Amino acid sequence: MNEQRPQCAVCNLGGHLIDEFITETDDTRTVIVVVRRVPALVCDRCGTTTVTDEVAGELARITDAQQGGAVSGTVVVDFDPRQIAAAG
Ligand SMILES: [Zn+2]
Repeated sequence: MNEQRPQCAVCNLGGHLIDEFITETDDTRTVIVVVRRVPALVCDRCGTTTVTDEVAGELARITDAQQGGAVSGTVVVDFDPRQIAAAG
Protein backbone atom coordinates (compact mmCIF):
# COMPACT_ATOMS: atom_id res chain seq x y z
CA MET A 1 0.00 0.00 0.00
CA ASN A 2 1.92 2.99 -1.25
CA GLU A 3 -1.05 4.99 -2.35
CA GLN A 4 -0.45 8.59 -3.27
CA ARG A 5 -2.26 11.14 -1.18
CA PRO A 6 -5.26 12.69 -2.90
CA GLN A 7 -4.81 16.35 -3.73
CA CYS A 8 -6.96 19.03 -2.17
CA ALA A 9 -9.66 20.21 -4.57
CA VAL A 10 -10.31 23.39 -2.63
CA CYS A 11 -7.17 25.45 -2.29
CA ASN A 12 -5.33 24.73 -5.53
CA LEU A 13 -2.09 25.15 -3.58
CA GLY A 14 -0.99 21.60 -4.15
CA GLY A 15 -2.15 20.66 -0.70
CA HIS A 16 -2.56 17.00 0.06
CA LEU A 17 -5.23 15.37 2.16
CA ILE A 18 -4.01 13.57 5.23
CA ASP A 19 -5.94 11.26 7.52
CA GLU A 20 -6.81 12.85 10.83
CA PHE A 21 -9.42 12.71 13.51
CA ILE A 22 -11.56 15.80 13.95
CA THR A 23 -14.38 16.90 16.21
CA GLU A 24 -17.68 17.69 14.54
CA THR A 25 -20.26 19.87 16.27
CA ASP A 26 -23.91 20.14 15.23
CA ASP A 27 -25.58 23.04 17.04
CA THR A 28 -28.40 23.54 14.55
CA ARG A 29 -30.98 21.56 16.50
CA THR A 30 -32.39 21.14 20.00
CA VAL A 31 -29.53 19.12 21.35
CA ILE A 32 -26.02 20.26 20.57
CA VAL A 33 -24.16 17.15 19.51
CA VAL A 34 -20.39 17.03 19.66
CA VAL A 35 -18.87 14.00 17.94
CA ARG A 36 -15.24 13.35 18.66
CA ARG A 37 -12.71 11.21 16.82
CA VAL A 38 -14.38 11.57 13.44
CA PRO A 39 -12.12 10.20 10.68
CA ALA A 40 -11.59 12.92 8.10
CA LEU A 41 -9.25 14.06 5.38
CA VAL A 42 -7.55 17.34 6.23
CA CYS A 43 -5.63 19.45 3.72
CA ASP A 44 -2.08 20.09 4.90
CA ARG A 45 -2.14 23.50 3.24
CA CYS A 46 -5.52 25.14 3.77
CA GLY A 47 -6.92 22.99 6.55
CA THR A 48 -10.11 22.10 4.71
CA THR A 49 -11.69 19.03 6.24
CA THR A 50 -13.54 16.42 4.21
CA VAL A 51 -15.42 13.36 5.36
CA THR A 52 -16.56 10.48 3.22
CA ASP A 53 -20.22 9.96 2.41
CA GLU A 54 -20.24 7.00 4.76
CA VAL A 55 -18.89 9.09 7.64
CA ALA A 56 -21.30 11.93 6.86
CA GLY A 57 -24.19 9.48 6.91
CA GLU A 58 -23.10 8.06 10.22
CA LEU A 59 -22.73 11.58 11.66
CA ALA A 60 -26.30 12.33 10.59
CA ARG A 61 -27.47 9.13 12.21
CA ILE A 62 -25.65 9.94 15.45
CA THR A 63 -27.04 13.48 15.66
CA ASP A 64 -30.54 12.28 14.77
CA ALA A 65 -30.38 9.69 17.54
CA GLN A 66 -29.62 12.39 20.12
CA GLN A 67 -32.62 14.55 19.22
CA GLY A 68 -36.08 14.24 20.66
CA GLY A 69 -35.10 12.63 23.93
CA ALA A 70 -35.60 14.04 27.39
CA VAL A 71 -32.08 15.39 27.42
CA SER A 72 -31.38 18.88 26.26
CA GLY A 73 -28.12 20.75 26.24
CA THR A 74 -24.95 19.24 24.90
CA VAL A 75 -24.14 15.63 24.24
CA VAL A 76 -20.60 14.49 23.57
CA VAL A 77 -20.11 11.14 21.87
CA ASP A 78 -17.19 9.35 20.30
CA PHE A 79 -17.49 8.37 16.66
CA ASP A 80 -17.57 4.60 16.28
CA PRO A 81 -16.12 3.48 12.95
CA ARG A 82 -17.47 -0.02 13.52
CA GLN A 83 -20.94 1.37 12.80
CA ILE A 84 -19.84 2.10 9.25
CA ALA A 85 -18.41 -1.36 8.81
CA ALA A 86 -21.63 -2.84 10.14
CA ALA A 87 -23.72 -0.81 7.72
CA GLY A 88 -21.68 -2.35 4.95
ZN1 LIG B 1 -6.28 22.70 0.51
